[in-house]
Amino acid sequence: MQRSCQKGDEILCAGIAENLALVQEKIARAAERVGRDPSQVKLVAVSKGVAPERIKEALSCGVKDFGENRVQEFQQKHQVLGDLVEWHFIGHLQRNKAKYLVGKIKLLHSLDSLKLAQTLEKLATRSGTSWKVLVQVNVSGEPTKHGISPSELDYFLEELRKFKGLEVCGLMTIAPYSPDPETVRPVFRKLRQLRDEFTKKKPWLDLMHLSMGMSADFEVAVEEGATIVRIGSAIFSEPLCN
Ligand SMILES: *Cc1c(COP(=O)(O)O)cnc(C)c1O
Repeated sequence: MQRSCQKGDEILCAGIAENLALVQEKIARAAERVGRDPSQVKLVAVSKGVAPERIKEALSCGVKDFGENRVQEFQQKHQVLGDLVEWHFIGHLQRNKAKYLVGKIKLLHSLDSLKLAQTLEKLATRSGTSWKVLVQVNVSGEPTKHGISPSELDYFLEELRKFKGLEVCGLMTIAPYSPDPETVRPVFRKLRQLRDEFTKKKPWLDLMHLSMGMSADFEVAVEEGATIVRIGSAIFSEPLCN
């Protein structure tokens, strides 16, 4: 059985290609519902737990950006796929592991402490590189979630100004899981409001990106202004074949 985007292959059941087409269609429709240009929403395919072969399949469908949340797993995949992929690191990053990401990732979505910022700054100075980062904000206030609380964001962004090796490109949040995505709309709206507020307040900042929305809630996130959605299971979950 073939599941592939390459022309000539017969598609026998819903696989990565069909899942991707459906997700992209939903992103486009959600953007259009609110008058946004769908090309302004980047899809990051979350490939945690997904084998390199299946990442290659998604690559052949035109997806370039993949997100990982564990350093060791990232390293293994990076060895196989290297620069074929634009890598995003989306999980909590322990400071002692940050060195393994130097020069290898396009965007860190999960800057969640000043201590991590210090470590990244040191690594940047040492390697002569810099990091593009998003600040993870714990909008919902769930104690199990990492991220800066909205009330501390002003101070946090001000402190980040000292770190020349960090380029702050926007904000990221993870909404609480809910079977009804409408219930998390306020979380996404709040992140956008924070972005707008700090863009006004701190003209030296360029908070272009809002990384928000996962398989369960990405359409609502796009309606609320997401510029990056992080989608795993809706793309890589097992196909339904007869
Ligand atoms: C796993 C994960 C995702 C993707 O979740 P799905 O529900 O599989 O789409 C997105 N963001 C983060 C931070 C994740 O850990």
